[in-house]
Parts: sequence; structure tokens; C-alpha cells
Amino acid sequence: MKKHNFNAGPSILPQSTIENTAKAILDFDGIGLSIMEISHRSKEFQAVMDEAVALFKELLSIPEGYSVLFLGSGASMQFAMVPFNLLEKKAAYLNTGTWASKALKEAKLFGEVVEVASSKEANFNYIPKQYTIPADADYFHITTNNTIFGTELHTDLDSPVPLVADMSSDIFSRVIDVSKYTLIYGGAQKNLAPAGLAFVIVKDAALGKVSRPIPTMLDYRVHAKEGSMFNTPPVVPIYAALQTLKWMKELGGIPALEKINKEKAALLYNEIDRNKLFKGTAAVEDRSLMNICFVMNNEYKELEDEFGKFAASKGMIGIKGHRSVGGFRASTYNAMPKESIQALVDVMKEFEKMH
Ligand SMILES: *Cc1c(COP(=O)(O)O)cnc(C)c1O
Repeated sequence: MKKHNFNAGPSILPQSTIENTAKAILDFDGIGLSIMEISHRSKEFQAVMDEAVALFKELLSIPEGYSVLFLGSGASMQFAMVPFNLLEKKAAYLNTGTWASKALKEAKLFGEVVEVASSKEANFNYIPKQYTIPADADYFHITTNNTIFGTELHTDLDSPVPLVADMSSDIFSRVIDVSKYTLIYGGAQKNLAPAGLAFVIVKDAALGKVSRPIPTMLDYRVHAKEGSMFNTPPVVPIYAALQTLKWMKELGGIPALEKINKEKAALLYNEIDRNKLFKGTAAVEDRSLMNICFVMNNEYKELEDEFGKFAASKGMIGIKGHRSVGGFRASTYNAMPKESIQALVDVMKEFEKMH
């Protein structure tokens, strides 16, 4: 039976990413060695790094003056690295979910943190719109897609202070204007590559302004200067990321992906809204295109386990909602084909007929 992979992360990757990476693990470019057993400083791997950085910049139209870094560890390390490098006195955070809260907590180790707004009182089912960003903040931190709660910022915010964004789960899913951001980071395992890798896009001119000493490995300037090769980078995830970047370019780049993502999300949201058994959990205007959260309607609450089992029997993988929301979550990252969403919609319709 075909499996439809709705996992939230690590999650579905393009088949070509998996196949090409598997090949390179056996024999990298016909050199008779695995990519896992050659020097990261070899000309072969340097070419991988250079192409990955160049394609990353091309696909996102990253302007001059920004560095793209590939670093070990995940997004959670960036929760600390961002304030370590940018927070001198005060930072502002928009609290839109579990990951945003974790980022905010780390920043408090480095200075004053202003939580400009939070939707915690509503279990983060919307993104606050009314708030004031302190003009003297060193930066303003947002989480553009709230993976657990299924809310997403659909526009690039205007911020009076440098804007920093965790884009772990929506990078490359929609066109963004990088020039509006000072720093964008994320873990690779949602839309790009296997776990173990974080990406950072940083405006070079924003670095070097804090007075504290920064440990070498946590200093963005070191990684920018060394081309993400200060130490041994996660070579296999970087190779896999390059395959995904090539796949995205071949499909027509981010505008093409955004169009498909909107169609995919509409297909599932329309069914959630139409089907008498289900309802969405996120505020309609903030609904995520990447993580679609839904629960049973109140009258059908007792059918939750049964639907979960029914969907699993039809090959639906990973649709159980996060424990802090309950119900179901279908993650519909770039690599998720429309056919899989249609298959889930068909399962929902079939289950409705049974009840
Ligand atoms: C998954 C996720 C993280 C955590 O990523 P790790 O790489 O596991 O540290 C952080 N932020 C967001 C928005 C995420 O979706």
C-alpha cells in the first residue's frame, strides 16, 4: 500500500533527494568513495558547499551583503546563537507558540526581553496583530510558521528594528523578501534535508555589534568568514540539501512551489470546512500552508481514535496532532504531492459516509 507521509519533522523529502543522497553515500560522483569518507576540504565536497550556497541565494533572491551558513545542530541552537550575537541590551519577541516561547526563554539569558504580544491564552490558535515593538530593541524575533499550532504569517512584516525570523517549517514554501530581515534561521529537517543541519541567512553588517565575547563556534562571523567550514560541517545533510535545492529549481523555483502549496492547502482546508465531522483549530486568516491542524467536531469527539486508525489503515502516516493541540495535523511540506492530500481528503469523505 502506498504510504502518504504527513510527518511534521523530520518529514517528507523529494524522492530525488533521497535517491541521489543514497547513491552518493555508496559512491560519490564515481570517485569510488562514499561522501561520508572523504575530506570536507576536498575539491569535490567544496563544490557541493559552493553550489548549495549559490542555489540557496538564487532561489530566495538573497541580496548582496548577506551570508548563508550551514551549521551543525538544529534550530534550537539558534535560539541561543541569535541573542549571543545580536542582543546587547534589549530584544523583542512575538510569542506565537512552543518554539517561539523556547526562543524567548533563551534570549533572557543575554539581556532584557520584551514579549510584545502572545496568543498563549488561546492555545496559540492565532497570530497577534496589535502590538508595539520597542524602538530601542536590538532586534524583533518572530516565528513565521508555528509548526505545532498550524498558524503562519503570510506576509513579511515591517519592523522598525532588525527583524529576525525562525523559518524552520516554511522556508522555501512561499516567496519572501529577504531584504526585510536581518537574520533568518531554521532547522533543515522540515523542508530541506535530514536532521542535523541548520541554515542561517544573516546580514553581515549586523554582526560584531555586541560587547560580550562570543565562543568561536557560536560566532556567526567565524562561520561566515570560513564558508561554514570552520570545523567539519554535516556533509551528508548538506549534500541532501543541495539535491532538494536542485529539485526546487527544476520545478520552477519558489513561485511555482508557492502556487502548488496554496492549492494543496486549499484542498484540505476546504474538506475540513465542508466535512461535518471535522473543524480546523487555527484562526482562518492565519492558517498555515505547511501544518494543517484539525479536530473532530464536538458531536463526533468520540470518533477521534477510530478516525486515526481508519486513516492509518489507508496509508496515512503521521497525522496525529501534537499533544498540545490534540486531534490531527497534516504536514504538507514542499515535497508532499497533491495526490497524497487528495488521498487524505478521500479518506475523510469515506469516514464521513460511515457515520
Ligand atoms: C522543528 C522546529 C524547531 C526545532 O528544530 P530543531 O532542529 O529540532 O532544534 C524550531 N522552530 C520551529 C518553527 C520548528 O518547526
